[in-house]
This record gives sequence, structure tokens and C-alpha cells, in this order.
Amino acid sequence: METFEQHYASMRATIENRMPGADMALVDRAVEYANDKHKQQKRKDGSPYIIHPLAVAEIVTEMGLDMDAILGALLHDCIEDTDASHEEIEKLFGQTVAELVEGVTKLTRANFSSTEQAQMENLRKMFMAMSKDIRVVLIKIADRLHNMRTMQYQTPAKQILKCRETMDIYAPLAHRLGMQKIKWELEDTSLRYLAPVEYDEIMSYLQAHKEQDEAFMRTIQNKITQRLTAMGIRNTTYGRIKHVYSIYRKMQTQGKTLDELYDLYAFRVIVDTIPDCYNVLGHVHDLFNLVPGRFKDYISTPKPNMYQSLHTTVIGSQGIPFEVQIRTWAMHETAEYGIAAHWKYKQGSGTGSEKDFEWVRRLLESQQDSDAEEYVQSLKIDMFDDEVFVFTPKGRIVSLPSGSTPIDFAYAIHSGVGNSMVGAKVNNRISNIDATLKNGDIVEILTSKSAKGPSRDWLNICKSNQARTKIKQWFKKEKREENVIHGRSSFESEMRRSGLPLSITVDPEVGPQLLRKLAFDDWEDMYAAIGYGGLTAVKAVGRIRDDINKALKIQANEKMNMAQQNPLKTAPDPDSVKHNRHAVNGVIVEDIDSCMIKFAKCCTPVPGDAIVGFITKGFGVSVHRADCPNAQNRDEPHQAARWVRVRWATQEEQPFETTLELDCITRDGLLLDVATTMTTARVRVKELFGRDLPGGRSTFTVRFEVKNVQELESIRKKLMNIRDVVGSRRGQN
Ligand code: MN
Repeated sequence: METFEQHYASMRATIENRMPGADMALVDRAVEYANDKHKQQKRKDGSPYIIHPLAVAEIVTEMGLDMDAILGALLHDCIEDTDASHEEIEKLFGQTVAELVEGVTKLTRANFSSTEQAQMENLRKMFMAMSKDIRVVLIKIADRLHNMRTMQYQTPAKQILKCRETMDIYAPLAHRLGMQKIKWELEDTSLRYLAPVEYDEIMSYLQAHKEQDEAFMRTIQNKITQRLTAMGIRNTTYGRIKHVYSIYRKMQTQGKTLDELYDLYAFRVIVDTIPDCYNVLGHVHDLFNLVPGRFKDYISTPKPNMYQSLHTTVIGSQGIPFEVQIRTWAMHETAEYGIAAHWKYKQGSGTGSEKDFEWVRRLLESQQDSDAEEYVQSLKIDMFDDEVFVFTPKGRIVSLPSGSTPIDFAYAIHSGVGNSMVGAKVNNRISNIDATLKNGDIVEILTSKSAKGPSRDWLNICKSNQARTKIKQWFKKEKREENVIHGRSSFESEMRRSGLPLSITVDPEVGPQLLRKLAFDDWEDMYAAIGYGGLTAVKAVGRIRDDINKALKIQANEKMNMAQQNPLKTAPDPDSVKHNRHAVNGVIVEDIDSCMIKFAKCCTPVPGDAIVGFITKGFGVSVHRADCPNAQNRDEPHQAARWVRVRWATQEEQPFETTLELDCITRDGLLLDVATTMTTARVRVKELFGRDLPGGRSTFTVRFEVKNVQELESIRKKLMNIRDVVGSRRGQN
């Protein structure tokens, strides 16, 4: 049996070690208080209850959380299990600690087990949404982790229930929050109870191969360490067997037996700086054979949960493939403790520089003067501010966009419910149908057979597309005549606003062509669609604007030809028509949508240059620099009509991905040079791999992002400057 003294000493040592200068007297007071409150209670194994909060507090300390969280962990079961009150805890330990304990209690009381797989994601989100402070979630995860560690004392039924819940709620949350190490332990322990046969099979396989595995890992480890040390790169390198649950998953998803699974080994190289990471990558690829297609650069492109590392898979001399993960210490800390690693940096006791911590920095920048609590709040809001979770009277969870109303809820249940709605109850009280719903509200819709159906106002009140679509459907079916009148009047006013003649729609040649473009059989159907909201007048007019303008131009030209060539301006004044155009090749041509664009060879414009466009005969619009000698005749009468206004689509500009292939003479460390060059040039590399060719040649393919061609060329130049890079070409994406 475990004793109070053991756990107490262990927790104290961990706090003193991780938080030098912590107020230990305060910790002791909380332990004493909790111990006194829980003194009647025993753990299932007969040991004193206080062991549990002590262990949870130790885990919370290991996560790197702050003193409030440690005190919260020590007291986390007091309100739920003893006569302790919020007020008492607040008086003794402050408001924050009391709120943390309160938050954990709320989560303990809520029931997060569900048999419906479809509800899991909602349960997880509600779990987060219910916690006002992210530390509450972290304490609760620590609480669950310790309960999992002592699961053997529970009844089999309880074991399965708890382990399911752990797999459904806690492990995915730990993953979402980037807490790799805890996620693994939660998964492995759950598997032990949920699939004991498979768990034992994997464990005894690993046990039987232990010596062999360890010898293999030592060899590889030594090889890497020796090389890095010789090159003066400080590193911590170690091998491990992938965790049990991930092996289990691989067997299940790939339908393989243990003997057939080859990538069981993972090596980790932890270094001081990011350039070191790329250096190590070069050395690893030099020491072992690369498995193509497995290199991942999560440093330049972090995972959504902030994870950063370089991953590559290589094959050693024994022919066994293994993965190598390369990262800095700061990245390592994030990978192990995820979001919790933040507190460490906030307290300024971190080992890595803040530069390694882009995500923390980004968050901190917008939060410079606010305290930790506000920071946490904003973090939570960032994660789930777009959804609200409410219940049906029968307890089913419905997820809606935040700001949703009973109208949205009704249509989320069924369109029949929405269409016959006459009122709503929220938490058993009559509510307005446009009230804003809050997390956890229980919503009941009152319906009547004699209901007149939705009102048009609802389209402006509801927040969900689902409700909007269903309301529109109703109007479409029920109110055709009304819709035609509504739709026709908005279409006509939009045409007038755009300076287009209404008569064109009844033009015997153009009219049918426009209808085809709009995909309607007759104009009345089209008006009806606008009337019920299936199509907006702006969209409809936008879709046919070019065709109308073209038709008008042709008609005008025909007139012109008949009048024997007299330069008339037929196009509308560009300033009167300013619409959002689609960019082609990064250029927007005003008045013409989606036409062919080419860049004039005489002046090769690049983004940033002032530019003009010339309508060529049959090759679309040719773009010149405004100061190009060939573009100086713009005002001459017989040319003027063909010059059009163009501009760079700067606002919509996305970095575009491009690929360069390098022809090289094979040599050691070349990949490293390429990687280093890209890093120094601050290029976002998406992929980088090399392939040996016969005759001492090799090619490297590097996929990366650039803003424009200038940048691409400057990078190409830098790459070409590397010794033994002899050629380069743009690759096919
Ligand atoms: Mn507990």
C-alpha cells in the first residue's frame, strides 16, 4: 500500500525542482487542509484518500503549470466529496484557486459518457466550453491520468466505462492540446483494459524482443551521437519503441501481425537550435539510406496543435527502417506538454529562446499587457467561440453556430419542426424565438398544426445555414407568385444599378443565351429563385454581366462597321463599374472576367510594377509595364479601345507553391547545404528530398512557397551557388 509520506515527499521534491523559490508553506497549508477534509475517505485500495490529490498535484507540476493550478489540484475533490465550500477555499487560498476547484467540480459532475459515436466530438467540445479556464481542463486531465494509473482497484465494469471515456474524451483532448506524453499513457492504459488479449500479445512480443531491440537501438544511437559529437553538435539522442496503442492501431488498420510491422522504432535527436536541426537531418541522411517520401518538415509547417519537428525515415545497415525525429529543446517541451508548456515560458524560466516558440509569441503579442487569466480566456475563446452546445429535452446534444436562436435549433431538429414552430421554451421557460442560446441550455420547440410557417424576418434572425436553407425551401414551395414579384423587382434594380439595359433580357438573340448561362428555363423561374433567396440578384446579374457587355459591344461594332469606322467608345467608363474580378496569373483585368493573360516579353512586368493591358487578337490580354515603350500609344484613337485597365491582385495574393529540381554531382552533405540555404533564405519549405542517379549524379526536389517570381529567381540563384549544384529547372507541381 502506498503511503501519504511517500507521495507527499515526492510531490514536494517535484515542486522544489521545477519551481525553485515556490512558496512551500502555502503548498503545505493546502495539503493540510485537503488531508483534514478527506480524512474520512479511503482510496479503493485502502490507502488514505489524500494520496490522490497529492499525485494529481505532482502531475500538474510536471506539466509545468503554475502555483494556482497546483493548489487547485490539491483541493480538486474537496467541494465534490467533502463539506468544503467555495467561499472557504476562496478565503483561504484566493479567488483563482476557488474558481479552479469549482470548475473541476463542474466537470466531475457532468456526465461525459455517451454511447453514440457521433456525439463524441460534441462532448469534447462541451467539455472545453464548460471550463472557463484552460487550467481546469489540465487539472482534470491530470486527475484522469492518476485514476488510470490506479485503475486496477476498480471493478471490471467501472474499468471499461472509465477507459472508454478516457479514449473518447481525455486522450483526444490531450492530443488536441499537444500533450503527447500524457496522450500516450492514457491510450496505453485504456487499451490494457479494453483489449486485454491484444495488449498482452503486444507486451509479450516486445518483452521477448527486448534485448534485441535494445541492442539495435544502442547501435543506431551510438552511430548518430558519435557523428554529431564529432561535428560539434550538442545533442541528446535516444531510441524508443513506439507506444503500445499506436502499434495496436497499426495492426488493426493495416491488418498486419506484429512480425509484419516494420516501423516500430523511433529515434529522437534533441538539439539547441533550429539550424542544428537541419544540420542533423543532413548527417542522418548521410549515415543511413533515405526512405523516399517520408520526410516531413513540421518546423516550417507546424501541426495545428503546435507540434514542431523534422521527421524522416531511414534504413540502417541491418535493413531495418526507423523514424528519426529532430527537434530543439523548446519544441520537445511543447511536444511533451503542449499547451501547458506555455506557463513555463510566461514565467521566464524557459531554456529555449522565445523565437522557437512562434505560437506562444504570437499569442502573447496580442495579449501583451493582460494577465494570465485573460490570456487563458482568449485561448479558450479562440478554440470554440464559433459553436454553442445545447440539449433537447431528451438530452441529445445539438451543436449550433454561436449566436444561434431557437429558430436555428428548431430547423436543426427537423424542417417540419421549424415550419410549424409557434414558440420556444429555454430551460423550461417561455423564450423569444430570437433569443441567443447559451452553452448547456435545454431547448424545447412549441409547434402547432395551424402555424402559418416561417416569416421572412427569420432569414435575418437565424445564424445557421441549415435553417436559412430550409426556410428558403419553404418559401420556394409555398409562395411562388409572391417570389416572382419580389425577385423581379430586385433583379431589375440590380440591373439598373449596374448600368445595364433591361431590354437585353427580351432581346431575341441575347435573351435565351443569358438564360442558359443562368441555368434557368424561363425568366419567371429565375425571378422566383431570387424571390425565395436561392439566388441573389447581385449574383445573377454578375453571372451575365460579361455576356451582356460583350453583346452590347458586338452590337455597337456592327453599327460602327456600318458607319464605316468611326472611333467610338462603346465600353462603359471603367470607373462606373468596379467589381470583384477573378485574378488570372495574379492579374485582374477590369471589365473582363477570366480572360487569358500573358506577360509581354518586351518588359516582363512583376508584381509591384504599374501595368496596363492590351487586348490582342486571339491571345487574350497582354500585360505591359505602364512605362514600356510599346505601351506609349494608348491615347491614339484607333488603339485606345484595346487598352484596358489591369492591376495586380495583391489583396488576394497567396504565397504560391513552386518546385525546383536541382541537378547535382553527388556528394556528402549536399542535402544539408540545400536545407541550410533554404533556411537562411527564410523560405517556407514544404518538401525536400533527394534521389541518387547513376554515374555519380543526383537530383534534389524542393517544394516551397514564394510570393512572386523575383523571389523564386533569387532563391534559384542562391541554390545554384551551392558547390556541385550544376543545373536547375522549374518542376511540375
Ligand atoms: Mn480526483
